[in-house]
Amino acid sequence: NKQILLASRPVGMPIDQNFEFKEIPVSEAQDGQVVVRTLYLSVDPYMRGRMNDAKSYIPAYKLNEVITGGIVGEVVESKSDLFKAGDKILGMLGWQLYNTVDAKTIRKIDDSMAPVSAYLSVLGLTGLTAYFGLLDIGQPKEGETVVVSGAAGAVGMLVGQIAKIKGTRVVGIAGSDEKCTYLKNELGFDEVINYKTTTNLDQALKEACPNGVDVYFDNVGGTISDAVMNVLNDYARIPLCGAISSYNSTDGDIGPRILTKMIKTRSLMKGFVLSDYAARQPEGLQELGQWLSEGKLKYEETIVEGFDNAIDAFLQLFQGTNLGKMLVKVSDS
Ligand code: NDP
Repeated sequence: NKQILLASRPVGMPIDQNFEFKEIPVSEAQDGQVVVRTLYLSVDPYMRGRMNDAKSYIPAYKLNEVITGGIVGEVVESKSDLFKAGDKILGMLGWQLYNTVDAKTIRKIDDSMAPVSAYLSVLGLTGLTAYFGLLDIGQPKEGETVVVSGAAGAVGMLVGQIAKIKGTRVVGIAGSDEKCTYLKNELGFDEVINYKTTTNLDQALKEACPNGVDVYFDNVGGTISDAVMNVLNDYARIPLCGAISSYNSTDGDIGPRILTKMIKTRSLMKGFVLSDYAARQPEGLQELGQWLSEGKLKYEETIVEGFDNAIDAFLQLFQGTNLGKMLVKVSDS
């Protein structure tokens, strides 16, 4: 067995030395436990926050302990009535080749409905984040304009598609021409802006949103969000989902800084974390699954092969190499 530990707390962008790979034995399953072989592990931007020694909605990773996150795996040994060998499961488990866990802490997934990796993206926390953030806080109405930043990422591309399903005009902001072309041609976004190459983001937004912005789904914060705030309509809604532009900042948060615009437009800005919607997960998963089976929702994955490349995959989130959900494939199902 092998695991990845947090060896030291990163300052700014994490480096390889902040992590340690360690060989360990596979723990034998006790009564009520199962041994799970990792198939895919999810690397997510929020994990960067857990590497800091700071109070948040989720506890910080402890030093010299295994990093945990979303994992899809296969039960290889069971001492529980809940699972048998061969079952596919989803859980918040350690970054290890094998995890020995209490059967009550994991959930069985149906691999006949979708490939197992989908439970770490569209049929998992990513899909639910897009669904509840957009629909519950954003409340998009037909004919309105929805702008989403981080638009070609895991959450962002689902937000844009759900906003299209709701009959809105959708404008995506993303970091490469390839991503922008994909959003427009494959997912039907109405307009796209490459924030890395545009020379005047304010102007580009004005052109892409001639009727102003009613919903801004914010995945990134910082100067991109400053620019979107300038084109808000009255009574705009802003689900604050993420602020990736600040996650490695050593100077704290860097915007948005447009409070007067918020007042003038009487806009609503609301932060949320997915756990707020725990009780409504079945409702979200049902509708996401429905749209997926009807072909109304597409999803994309960028898969990095090999457990040893997990840290590299995590760091690539901050370079933007991923289209859709970034996953690490650890072993074959
Ligand atoms: P993504 O798949 O969107 O991956 C991250 C993307 O962010 C990159 O591909 C990159 O795309 C973009 N990015 C990286 N650095 C910057 C930067 N400095 N400025 C602007 N964009 C940047 O990740 P997720 O979809 O998993 O997450 C998206 C956001 O949602 C994150 O902020 C995350 O923390 C948040 N989140 C919040 C949840 C909640 O419960 N509130 C739950 C899940 C996610 P590009 O090429 O466009 O730069």
